[in-house]
Amino acid sequence: MSGSRKKFDTLCIHAGQTTDPATGAVMPPIYTSTTFEHEAFGQAGEYAYSRGANPTRGALERCVAELEGGVRGFAYASGMAATAAVLELLEAGSHVIAQQAIYGGTLRLFNQVRRHSAGLDFTFVDFFDLQRVESLLRPETRLIWVETPTNPLLDVVDLTAVAELAHRHDVLVCVDNTFASPILQRPLERACDIVMHSSTKYLGGHSDVLGGINVVADPELGRQIAAITSGVGSVAGPFDAYLVLRGIKTLALRMERHESNAQAVAAWLETRECVQSVRYPGLPSHPQHALARSQMDGFGGVVSFQLDGDLKAVGEVLEKLQVFTMAESLGGVESLVGHPATMSHSNIPAEQRRELGINDNLIRLSVGIEHVDDLIADLDQALAR
Ligand SMILES: *Cc1c(COP(=O)(O)O)cnc(C)c1O
Repeated sequence: MSGSRKKFDTLCIHAGQTTDPATGAVMPPIYTSTTFEHEAFGQAGEYAYSRGANPTRGALERCVAELEGGVRGFAYASGMAATAAVLELLEAGSHVIAQQAIYGGTLRLFNQVRRHSAGLDFTFVDFFDLQRVESLLRPETRLIWVETPTNPLLDVVDLTAVAELAHRHDVLVCVDNTFASPILQRPLERACDIVMHSSTKYLGGHSDVLGGINVVADPELGRQIAAITSGVGSVAGPFDAYLVLRGIKTLALRMERHESNAQAVAAWLETRECVQSVRYPGLPSHPQHALARSQMDGFGGVVSFQLDGDLKAVGEVLEKLQVFTMAESLGGVESLVGHPATMSHSNIPAEQRRELGINDNLIRLSVGIEHVDDLIADLDQALAR
């Protein structure tokens, strides 16, 4: 789109897309062709072979790049494939500093795959103490990996401060922006270098497609990631790219409802006697509420709380819930409930889980876009003793 930067509600629908020049189709067609005719001898067109570039995937990539305020986007078969592509930027022997409490699959990729296969070294640390982060930098440190808000405790990291620290030492910063979505938080505007998404979550929004995205603001970094992405070949297929693009059409609307529902659910949970504590960046009781206010345009749809009860009581609550479905994942239109200790974070040893604050009585809600009265009524009946 041309002219002044449009509002996000408008960008979600139009960014990166034009009506199809061949037919006038309003929605970009699903281009399944793997190969494209050369314009003349020795002269390939914009598209040549779909691993390198595909028109449907390209529409999605331009759309998210524009939403994030970047110059170039890359769409992958999953969020993990997007993360893996970022690690491919690093030479063997490089060191990465990552936040301690991040997505479990990211921890697995770092520790169980890339330590061995790529010779990378990782240090995990709490990002509340940036002096400690700085003290852990080594001459071979190349990347800082953060996630904010985090899963499942909704910790918030100061992106401007992390980018400033990293750039003083010539280190790249990649931010997993899955929990916020570009509607609520744009790390490139805070000088971070790479934004990563699991588009399986809010971007897709309907729990029906796996995908990942990387966006960069620097064209040279974009060229490097383009070469890695086409070289490794972990790209999104055209059908999946279409589904994510379709999901993004309603992203702004959905985030509004996710947020107002989550805010109401979090505030209600705080009034219940059987709830020990509630974690939601939109609550004044959240330890980084002020930072979240200044860094984000909203607080998202994930709420975690600690039940005053043992594992058995937690199980009973999860089983009694009816509108909330007991399942992994988040960011879809339907409300989900999960138990990090036995589900998403079960591969972390119990002692380490407790150190991170992921206690056995912690319950995580992905608050959907149903009517808030039904969500609160469901929680009310499930929490009744
Ligand atoms: C789901 C998720 C991922 C991984 O994405 P997949 O699409 O499942 O591969 C990474 N980071 C966060 C924060 C996630 O929630």
